[in-house]
Amino acid sequence: MEKAGYDLIIAGGGPAGLTAGLYGARARLRTLLVEKMAPGGQAASTFHIENYPGFDQGISGPDLSQAMETQAKRFGLEVTYGEVKRLGAREPFWELEIEERKMSAKAVIVATGVEPRKLGVPGEETLRGRGVSYCATCDGPFFKDQDIGVIGGGDSAVEEALYLTRFASRVYLVHRRDALRAEKIIQERAFENPKIEILWDTVVTRVVGDSGVEGLELQNVKTKDTRSLKVGGVFFYVGWLSNTGFLRGILNLDDQGYVLTDDTMATSAVGVFAAGDVRKKLLRQIATAVGDGATAAFAAEKYIESRKWP
Ligand code: NAP
Repeated sequence: MEKAGYDLIIAGGGPAGLTAGLYGARARLRTLLVEKMAPGGQAASTFHIENYPGFDQGISGPDLSQAMETQAKRFGLEVTYGEVKRLGAREPFWELEIEERKMSAKAVIVATGVEPRKLGVPGEETLRGRGVSYCATCDGPFFKDQDIGVIGGGDSAVEEALYLTRFASRVYLVHRRDALRAEKIIQERAFENPKIEILWDTVVTRVVGDSGVEGLELQNVKTKDTRSLKVGGVFFYVGWLSNTGFLRGILNLDDQGYVLTDDTMATSAVGVFAAGDVRKKLLRQIATAVGDGATAAFAAEKYIESRKWP
């Protein structure tokens, strides 16, 4: 019978996947990590991370991601690029289709994370890349001395609004409620920042513009009053969607598409584990992602040891 190409394949190269790669490689499993873009996931597009322990002055997302990748590769992690299109059983292995390639492994860790959720208002899709953005670190510098909007009230929206004050002359934080969801320390900074104006109880109903963003149409959800706001750009941070389309029918997912696991990170499919933001969990942070990654790799190692392989 044919042998598996790898002991362990990890789908996704954010902090969860890279940590699983580090632990897998150190357990001397032949480990391959498949990444769609550049390693680091959502963390890599975060300008400054200050709640990951060990860096008393914080660390940039790209620097942390690069260090995690270099560290894991030092112990033998292999990294390849491409999108995982399919995961299927090929007894006793699992087979992944990565673009045109097929790879097999004894165990798989899914760490494919999340992608920005779209609000779905008119103008959002048509002006994407022309003033509509989901990544302040990538696009912030384009809005020097302009007024911009940031939509949402969670950690991402408030942190990125603060970051954008480096470039923009004014940042309107548009939030649908009268209280922010973000961590208190981040809220305090936003309240103190003279460049940030919070528009409470307000939703965006349209992004206005022809060849680029010219403004937003807003509505107060309590008074129902509408108004127009002139901005040169708008950043949406209204939550995330799990990257689990290729797993439907293979693994048990919750009603929002997050992978259900037990506390060893085992999914409903024997030999498949999940780690990081893609998992149904309480807190989505780098600190919790690395814990998931370490646990998933350890559990995968134990699973591999527990079976006889061709
Ligand atoms: P989030 O916590 O899900 O917040 C999404 C925000 O968008 C909420 O304020 C929500 O409003 C708003 N929203 C959702 N749907 C909307 C709609 N249809 N119209 C208007 N507003 C809408 O997402 P996140 O801020 O990206 O954070 C995601 C996870 O990553 C969290 O666990 C967060 O702690 C973590 N994170 C952490 C850090 C950090 O620790 N520094 C940084 C970034 C992200 P409501 O508040 O009314 O629901």
